Amino acid sequence: MTVSTLTIDLNALVANWRALDAKSNASVETAAVIKADGYGLGSGRVAKALCAAGVRRFFVAAAEEAIPVREAICDGAEICVFSGHGAGDTDLIRDLDLIPMLNSAAQLDRHLSALPHRGYGVQLDSGMNRLGMEPAEWAAVRSRAEAGDLRLVMSHLACADEPDHPMNAQQLACFTEMTSGVTVPRSLSATGGTLLGPDYHFDLVRPGVGLYGGLPFEDARPVVTVALPVIQIRDVAVGEAVGYGNAWVAERPSKIATVAAGYADGLHRMIGNGLNGATLNVFASGTACPVVGRVSMDLITVDITDLAEAPDQLEILNDQQQVDDLADIAGTIGYEILTSMGRRYQRQNIGG
Ligand SMILES: *Cc1c(COP(=O)(O)O)cnc(C)c1O
Repeated sequence: MTVSTLTIDLNALVANWRALDAKSNASVETAAVIKADGYGLGSGRVAKALCAAGVRRFFVAAAEEAIPVREAICDGAEICVFSGHGAGDTDLIRDLDLIPMLNSAAQLDRHLSALPHRGYGVQLDSGMNRLGMEPAEWAAVRSRAEAGDLRLVMSHLACADEPDHPMNAQQLACFTEMTSGVTVPRSLSATGGTLLGPDYHFDLVRPGVGLYGGLPFEDARPVVTVALPVIQIRDVAVGEAVGYGNAWVAERPSKIATVAAGYADGLHRMIGNGLNGATLNVFASGTACPVVGRVSMDLITVDITDLAEAPDQLEILNDQQQVDDLADIAGTIGYEILTSMGRRYQRQNIGG
Protein backbone atom coordinates (compact mmCIF):
# COMPACT_ATOMS: atom_id res chain seq x y z
CA MET A 1 0.00 0.00 0.00
CA THR A 2 1.56 3.26 -1.05
CA VAL A 3 -1.31 5.60 -0.48
CA SER A 4 -2.46 6.74 2.90
CA THR A 5 -5.69 5.49 4.39
CA LEU A 6 -8.40 7.65 5.88
CA THR A 7 -10.73 5.66 8.09
CA ILE A 8 -14.05 7.03 9.28
CA ASP A 9 -15.69 5.59 12.34
CA LEU A 10 -19.37 5.87 11.46
CA ASN A 11 -20.32 4.57 14.90
CA ALA A 12 -18.47 7.49 16.48
CA LEU A 13 -20.17 9.88 14.04
CA VAL A 14 -23.59 8.56 15.03
CA ALA A 15 -22.64 8.65 18.72
CA ASN A 16 -21.66 12.31 18.32
CA TRP A 17 -25.01 13.09 16.72
CA ARG A 18 -26.82 11.30 19.55
CA ALA A 19 -24.77 13.15 22.17
CA LEU A 20 -25.56 16.52 20.56
CA ASP A 21 -29.21 15.50 20.16
CA ALA A 22 -29.30 14.77 23.90
CA LYS A 23 -28.22 18.37 24.67
CA SER A 24 -31.65 19.66 23.68
CA ASN A 25 -35.01 18.48 24.90
CA ALA A 26 -37.07 15.95 23.00
CA SER A 27 -39.22 18.49 21.15
CA VAL A 28 -36.15 20.00 19.45
CA GLU A 29 -35.15 18.37 16.17
CA THR A 30 -31.43 17.73 15.64
CA ALA A 31 -30.53 17.99 11.97
CA ALA A 32 -27.08 17.41 10.44
CA VAL A 33 -24.90 19.72 8.35
CA ILE A 34 -23.08 17.77 5.65
CA LYS A 35 -21.87 20.59 3.40
CA ALA A 36 -18.43 20.45 1.74
CA ASP A 37 -18.85 16.73 1.09
CA GLY A 38 -19.64 15.98 4.71
CA TYR A 39 -16.73 18.11 5.98
CA GLY A 40 -14.46 16.19 3.64
CA LEU A 41 -15.49 12.76 4.91
CA GLY A 42 -17.95 11.84 2.12
CA SER A 43 -21.46 13.28 2.31
CA GLY A 44 -23.16 10.15 0.94
CA ARG A 45 -21.89 7.71 3.52
CA VAL A 46 -22.17 10.25 6.33
CA ALA A 47 -25.78 11.01 5.43
CA LYS A 48 -26.65 7.33 5.05
CA ALA A 49 -25.33 6.47 8.51
CA LEU A 50 -27.05 9.47 10.11
CA CYS A 51 -30.33 8.74 8.35
CA ALA A 52 -30.26 5.19 9.69
CA ALA A 53 -29.77 6.71 13.16
CA GLY A 54 -32.86 8.90 12.77
CA VAL A 55 -31.73 12.19 11.19
CA ARG A 56 -34.50 13.52 8.98
CA ARG A 57 -33.10 16.87 7.86
CA PHE A 58 -29.74 17.56 6.25
CA PHE A 59 -28.12 20.85 5.26
CA VAL A 60 -25.76 21.44 2.34
CA ALA A 61 -24.22 24.72 1.17
CA ALA A 62 -25.05 24.47 -2.54
CA ALA A 63 -27.72 22.60 -4.51
CA GLU A 64 -25.07 20.55 -6.37
CA GLU A 65 -23.90 19.12 -3.06
CA ALA A 66 -27.26 17.39 -2.68
CA ILE A 67 -26.67 15.03 -5.63
CA PRO A 68 -24.75 12.31 -3.73
CA VAL A 69 -26.91 12.89 -0.66
CA ARG A 70 -30.36 12.38 -2.17
CA GLU A 71 -29.60 8.85 -3.35
CA ALA A 72 -27.96 7.93 -0.03
CA ILE A 73 -30.72 8.90 2.37
CA CYS A 74 -34.06 7.47 3.38
CA ASP A 75 -37.28 8.46 1.65
CA GLY A 76 -38.85 11.52 3.15
CA ALA A 77 -35.68 13.01 4.60
CA GLU A 78 -35.28 16.69 3.73
CA ILE A 79 -32.25 18.36 2.20
CA CYS A 80 -31.97 22.10 2.86
CA VAL A 81 -29.64 24.41 0.96
CA PHE A 82 -28.00 27.31 2.84
CA SER A 83 -27.20 29.33 -0.28
CA GLY A 84 -30.88 29.41 -1.21
CA HIS A 85 -32.34 29.49 -4.69
CA GLY A 86 -29.74 30.93 -7.05
CA ALA A 87 -30.02 31.54 -10.76
CA GLY A 88 -29.64 28.12 -12.40
CA ASP A 89 -30.60 26.15 -9.27
CA THR A 90 -34.25 25.58 -10.19
CA ASP A 91 -33.84 22.21 -11.92
CA LEU A 92 -31.84 20.68 -9.08
CA ILE A 93 -34.21 22.06 -6.45
CA ARG A 94 -37.16 20.54 -8.29
CA ASP A 95 -35.59 17.25 -9.32
CA LEU A 96 -33.93 16.48 -5.98
CA ASP A 97 -36.78 17.96 -3.95
CA LEU A 98 -34.55 20.44 -2.09
CA ILE A 99 -35.61 23.08 0.41
CA PRO A 100 -33.72 26.31 -0.35
CA MET A 101 -33.06 28.73 2.52
CA LEU A 102 -33.98 31.97 0.74
CA ASN A 103 -31.55 34.74 1.61
CA SER A 104 -33.07 37.81 -0.04
CA ALA A 105 -36.26 39.24 -1.48
CA ALA A 106 -34.84 38.49 -4.93
CA GLN A 107 -34.42 34.81 -4.05
CA LEU A 108 -37.95 34.72 -2.67
CA ASP A 109 -39.25 36.18 -5.95
CA ARG A 110 -37.23 33.68 -7.95
CA HIS A 111 -38.49 30.74 -5.94
CA LEU A 112 -42.13 31.76 -5.87
CA SER A 113 -42.21 32.32 -9.60
CA ALA A 114 -40.17 29.25 -10.64
CA LEU A 115 -41.48 26.68 -8.15
CA PRO A 116 -44.56 28.20 -6.51
CA HIS A 117 -45.70 24.99 -4.85
CA ARG A 118 -42.36 23.85 -3.49
CA GLY A 119 -41.34 24.36 0.13
CA TYR A 120 -38.64 26.79 1.22
CA GLY A 121 -37.04 28.30 4.28
CA VAL A 122 -35.83 31.80 4.99
CA GLN A 123 -32.43 32.72 6.34
CA LEU A 124 -32.27 35.91 8.40
CA ASP A 125 -29.23 37.99 9.20
CA SER A 126 -29.17 38.50 12.96
CA GLY A 127 -25.86 40.38 12.96
CA MET A 128 -23.19 38.26 11.26
CA ASN A 129 -23.57 40.17 7.99
CA ARG A 130 -22.78 37.19 5.87
CA LEU A 131 -25.97 35.63 4.54
CA GLY A 132 -29.68 36.21 4.98
CA MET A 133 -32.30 38.93 5.01
CA GLU A 134 -31.76 41.93 7.23
CA PRO A 135 -34.60 43.17 9.44
CA ALA A 136 -35.99 45.75 6.99
CA GLU A 137 -35.93 43.35 4.05
CA TRP A 138 -37.59 40.63 6.13
CA ALA A 139 -40.26 43.03 7.32
CA ALA A 140 -41.04 43.94 3.73
CA VAL A 141 -41.46 40.35 2.47
CA ARG A 142 -42.53 38.53 5.61
CA SER A 143 -46.26 38.27 4.92
CA ARG A 144 -45.60 37.03 1.39
CA ALA A 145 -43.05 34.51 2.65
CA GLU A 146 -45.41 33.25 5.33
CA ALA A 147 -48.30 32.90 2.87
CA GLY A 148 -46.44 30.23 0.87
CA ASP A 149 -45.01 26.85 1.87
CA LEU A 150 -42.56 28.25 4.45
CA ARG A 151 -40.91 25.40 6.38
CA LEU A 152 -38.15 26.94 8.48
CA VAL A 153 -36.80 30.31 9.56
CA MET A 154 -33.14 30.30 10.52
CA SER A 155 -30.14 32.44 11.33
CA HIS A 156 -26.51 31.78 12.23
CA LEU A 157 -24.32 32.78 15.18
CA ALA A 158 -20.94 34.42 14.58
CA CYS A 159 -19.30 33.75 17.97
CA ALA A 160 -20.98 30.64 19.36
CA ASP A 161 -17.63 28.94 19.97
CA GLU A 162 -16.98 31.61 22.63
CA PRO A 163 -19.77 31.09 25.19
CA ASP A 164 -19.08 34.38 26.99
CA HIS A 165 -19.05 36.53 23.88
CA PRO A 166 -21.70 39.28 24.10
CA MET A 167 -22.51 38.75 20.42
CA ASN A 168 -24.37 35.53 21.33
CA ALA A 169 -27.00 37.25 23.46
CA GLN A 170 -27.21 40.11 20.98
CA GLN A 171 -27.96 37.76 18.08
CA LEU A 172 -30.36 35.74 20.22
CA ALA A 173 -32.33 38.91 20.97
CA CYS A 174 -32.28 39.99 17.34
CA PHE A 175 -33.43 36.59 16.06
CA THR A 176 -36.14 36.36 18.73
CA GLU A 177 -37.45 39.75 17.75
CA MET A 178 -37.29 39.10 14.00
CA THR A 179 -39.18 35.81 14.37
CA SER A 180 -41.75 36.90 16.92
CA GLY A 181 -45.10 35.44 15.85
CA VAL A 182 -43.57 33.06 13.32
CA THR A 183 -45.46 29.77 13.47
CA VAL A 184 -43.09 27.53 11.49
CA PRO A 185 -39.99 25.93 13.07
CA ARG A 186 -37.11 28.25 13.93
CA SER A 187 -33.39 27.45 14.07
CA LEU A 188 -30.44 29.51 15.28
CA SER A 189 -27.73 27.10 16.33
CA ALA A 190 -24.94 25.05 14.81
CA THR A 191 -22.60 22.98 17.05
CA GLY A 192 -21.53 25.95 19.17
CA GLY A 193 -25.04 27.25 19.77
CA THR A 194 -26.29 23.76 20.60
CA LEU A 195 -23.78 23.80 23.47
CA LEU A 196 -24.89 27.26 24.66
CA GLY A 197 -28.06 25.84 26.19
CA PRO A 198 -31.82 25.72 25.69
CA ASP A 199 -32.32 29.44 24.99
CA TYR A 200 -30.47 28.90 21.74
CA HIS A 201 -32.22 25.73 20.58
CA PHE A 202 -35.61 26.97 19.32
CA ASP A 203 -37.20 24.12 17.29
CA LEU A 204 -34.23 22.76 15.42
CA VAL A 205 -30.46 22.66 15.91
CA ARG A 206 -28.09 21.98 13.03
CA PRO A 207 -24.67 20.82 14.15
CA GLY A 208 -21.88 20.14 11.68
CA VAL A 209 -18.32 19.99 12.98
CA GLY A 210 -19.21 18.33 16.30
CA LEU A 211 -20.54 15.31 14.42
CA TYR A 212 -17.13 14.85 12.84
CA GLY A 213 -15.26 15.04 16.13
CA GLY A 214 -14.26 18.71 16.06
CA LEU A 215 -14.31 21.62 18.50
CA PRO A 216 -16.21 23.32 19.98
CA PHE A 217 -17.75 19.94 20.92
CA GLU A 218 -15.12 18.95 23.47
CA ASP A 219 -16.75 15.65 24.34
CA ALA A 220 -16.87 14.47 20.73
CA ARG A 221 -15.57 11.03 19.94
CA PRO A 222 -12.81 11.04 17.34
CA VAL A 223 -14.17 10.07 13.93
CA VAL A 224 -11.14 10.14 11.64
CA THR A 225 -7.97 8.03 11.63
CA VAL A 226 -5.30 8.72 9.03
CA ALA A 227 -2.47 6.20 8.58
CA LEU A 228 0.55 6.98 6.42
CA PRO A 229 2.43 4.00 4.93
CA VAL A 230 6.20 3.91 5.40
CA ILE A 231 7.76 3.62 1.96
CA GLN A 232 11.44 3.84 2.88
CA ILE A 233 13.66 3.83 5.96
CA ARG A 234 17.27 5.08 5.96
CA ASP A 235 20.12 5.71 8.38
CA VAL A 236 21.29 9.31 8.62
CA ALA A 237 24.67 10.23 10.13
CA VAL A 238 25.34 13.14 12.46
CA GLY A 239 25.48 16.35 10.45
CA GLU A 240 23.43 15.05 7.51
CA ALA A 241 20.29 16.95 6.55
CA VAL A 242 16.80 15.69 5.69
CA GLY A 243 14.39 17.14 3.14
CA TYR A 244 13.99 20.44 1.28
CA GLY A 245 16.05 23.38 2.43
CA ASN A 246 18.16 21.15 4.69
CA ALA A 247 15.71 22.25 7.35
CA TRP A 248 16.59 19.45 9.78
CA VAL A 249 20.07 18.18 10.56
CA ALA A 250 20.75 14.99 12.53
CA GLU A 251 22.38 15.56 15.91
CA ARG A 252 22.72 11.84 16.56
CA PRO A 253 22.86 8.80 14.29
CA SER A 254 19.22 8.62 13.21
CA LYS A 255 16.72 6.38 11.47
CA ILE A 256 14.40 8.30 9.19
CA ALA A 257 11.15 6.89 7.82
CA THR A 258 9.61 8.45 4.74
CA VAL A 259 5.82 8.18 4.61
CA ALA A 260 3.50 8.63 1.64
CA ALA A 261 1.47 11.77 2.26
CA GLY A 262 2.12 15.47 2.17
CA TYR A 263 0.59 18.87 1.74
CA ALA A 264 -1.34 17.70 -1.32
CA ASP A 265 -3.20 15.49 1.13
CA GLY A 266 -4.18 18.35 3.41
CA LEU A 267 -1.22 17.85 5.73
CA HIS A 268 -0.30 21.51 5.57
CA ARG A 269 3.31 22.41 4.97
CA MET A 270 3.10 24.51 8.11
CA ILE A 271 2.81 21.48 10.39
CA GLY A 272 6.37 20.41 9.62
CA ASN A 273 7.76 23.76 10.63
CA GLY A 274 6.18 23.49 14.05
CA LEU A 275 4.23 26.65 14.75
CA ASN A 276 5.39 28.22 18.02
CA GLY A 277 8.10 25.59 18.25
CA ALA A 278 5.55 22.78 18.56
CA THR A 279 6.66 19.43 17.19
CA LEU A 280 4.25 17.37 15.20
CA ASN A 281 4.26 13.71 16.10
CA VAL A 282 3.03 10.73 14.21
CA PHE A 283 2.34 7.47 15.99
CA ALA A 284 3.65 3.91 15.64
CA SER A 285 1.22 1.69 17.55
CA GLY A 286 0.75 4.46 20.10
CA THR A 287 4.39 5.61 20.33
CA ALA A 288 5.00 9.20 19.29
CA CYS A 289 7.68 9.87 16.65
CA PRO A 290 8.57 13.44 15.63
CA VAL A 291 8.17 14.70 12.08
CA VAL A 292 11.51 16.16 10.96
CA GLY A 293 12.32 18.39 8.00
CA ARG A 294 9.80 19.99 5.71
CA VAL A 295 6.53 18.48 4.60
CA SER A 296 6.72 17.92 0.82
CA MET A 297 3.80 17.56 -1.58
CA ASP A 298 3.68 13.76 -1.29
CA LEU A 299 6.14 12.84 1.44
CA ILE A 300 6.83 13.43 5.12
CA THR A 301 9.99 12.38 6.98
CA VAL A 302 9.86 11.05 10.52
CA ASP A 303 12.53 10.34 13.13
CA ILE A 304 11.95 6.72 14.21
CA THR A 305 15.36 6.25 15.87
CA ASP A 306 13.79 5.40 19.22
CA LEU A 307 11.47 2.71 17.93
CA ALA A 308 12.42 -0.89 18.62
CA GLU A 309 10.91 -2.11 15.37
CA ALA A 310 10.51 -0.63 11.90
CA PRO A 311 6.86 0.43 11.50
CA ASP A 312 4.73 -0.34 8.42
CA GLN A 313 2.69 2.78 8.92
CA LEU A 314 2.49 5.87 11.11
CA GLU A 315 -0.75 7.51 12.19
CA ILE A 316 -1.08 11.27 11.96
CA LEU A 317 -4.70 11.40 13.11
CA ASN A 318 -5.97 8.98 15.73
CA ASP A 319 -7.43 8.97 19.22
CA GLN A 320 -4.20 10.48 20.58
CA GLN A 321 -3.91 13.28 18.04
CA GLN A 322 -7.21 14.60 16.74
CA VAL A 323 -8.12 17.13 14.09
CA ASP A 324 -7.94 20.10 16.45
CA ASP A 325 -4.49 19.07 17.70
CA LEU A 326 -3.27 19.04 14.12
CA ALA A 327 -5.06 22.34 13.51
CA ASP A 328 -3.30 24.00 16.46
CA ILE A 329 0.10 23.06 15.09
CA ALA A 330 -0.88 24.24 11.60
CA GLY A 331 -2.30 27.51 12.92
CA THR A 332 -5.81 26.76 11.69
CA ILE A 333 -9.08 25.18 12.87
CA GLY A 334 -10.32 21.60 12.81
CA TYR A 335 -12.83 22.48 10.10
CA GLU A 336 -10.03 23.35 7.70
CA ILE A 337 -8.03 20.22 8.49
CA LEU A 338 -11.10 18.04 7.81
CA THR A 339 -12.14 19.75 4.60
CA SER A 340 -8.66 19.82 3.06
CA MET A 341 -7.84 16.12 3.33
CA GLY A 342 -8.09 15.68 -0.44
CA ARG A 343 -8.81 12.87 -2.84
CA ARG A 344 -5.73 10.71 -2.70
CA TYR A 345 -6.58 8.69 0.39
CA GLN A 346 -7.89 5.20 0.27
CA ARG A 347 -11.07 5.68 2.25
CA GLN A 348 -12.50 3.09 4.61
CA ASN A 349 -15.40 2.96 7.06
CA ILE A 350 -15.81 1.34 10.43
CA GLY A 351 -19.39 0.58 11.47
CA GLY A 352 -22.45 2.27 10.06
C1 LIG B 1 -21.60 25.41 8.49
C2 LIG B 1 -22.88 25.85 9.06
C3 LIG B 1 -23.47 25.15 10.13
C4 LIG B 1 -22.74 24.07 10.88
O1 LIG B 1 -21.74 24.69 11.67
P1 LIG B 1 -20.79 23.88 12.65
O2 LIG B 1 -20.04 24.95 13.36
O3 LIG B 1 -19.93 23.04 11.79
O4 LIG B 1 -21.64 23.08 13.55
C5 LIG B 1 -24.74 25.52 10.53
N1 LIG B 1 -25.38 26.55 9.93
C6 LIG B 1 -24.84 27.27 8.92
C7 LIG B 1 -25.59 28.39 8.33
C8 LIG B 1 -23.57 26.95 8.46
O5 LIG B 1 -23.02 27.67 7.48
